Amino acid sequence: MIQVSNLHKKFGKLHVLKGINEHIEQGEVVVVIGPSGSGKSTFLRCLNLLEQPTDGEIIFEGVSITDAKNDINVQRQKMGMVFQQFNLFPHLTVLENVTLSPIKVKKMTQAEAEKIAFSLLKRIGLEDKAHNYPNQLSGGQKQRIAIARALAMSPDVMLFDEPTSALDPEMVGEVLDVMKELAAEGMTMVVVTHEMGFAKEVGNRVIFMDEGQVIEQGCPTEIFSSPKHPRTQDFLGKVL
Ligand code: ADP
Ligand code: MG
Repeated sequence: MIQVSNLHKKFGKLHVLKGINEHIEQGEVVVVIGPSGSGKSTFLRCLNLLEQPTDGEIIFEGVSITDAKNDINVQRQKMGMVFQQFNLFPHLTVLENVTLSPIKVKKMTQAEAEKIAFSLLKRIGLEDKAHNYPNQLSGGQKQRIAIARALAMSPDVMLFDEPTSALDPEMVGEVLDVMKELAAEGMTMVVVTHEMGFAKEVGNRVIFMDEGQVIEQGCPTEIFSSPKHPRTQDFLGKVL
């Protein structure tokens, strides 16, 4: 589904991604772990061109999105993204947040978009919040709405950047539960997280990044119980 070849990203002189090569298959749940500053967010943001790669190629569903002659907006619609800080529009209700892109970008009618929105809100148990504003919701509720908003575009892949890191501990579970359900339904997911329990339970593959490179990767049990690289061992020693 996604093929990343020799991906480099520099911010000025800072060389943040140093040649990443990855294949993400349809239906795979790939968990990306690594120290702060290792380039995890930049990697995720390059996948949907929120950051422009300095070098390398990204092919998504057979289309080279790094090739300027292809329309990135068409491809980007098929990638949902969920951020640590939710990024809901504060001046819009929950329903308006979830229907905005389907109406604006997909040119759905309001009735169609609302029908989809309500079915998504029902699925995450927040139907009764449709007419509330984001500041009337808990962090966990906001993040579940952010997930619903991304799903409203019927993406083929969902990218999560530390979706539970800004939450109070008691709200982490409700967000992870929604993500687990998505995974069980076969959604292709790339998840940057420090939730090692989630990685073990749901991940098909764990990628360990450090200093802009993929140092080691494998199935979760392999990576967590017998990491081979000293840097992976060191990192896991600190977080497990
Ligand atoms: P991680 O998500 O693993 O913590 P990031 O991808 O956010 O790492 O950041 C990797 C490095 O790139 C850091 O040194 C960070 O300061 C730098 N960086 C990230 N985004 C930008 C930006 N827009 N401009 C300049 N430097 C950036
Ligand atoms: Mg980050």
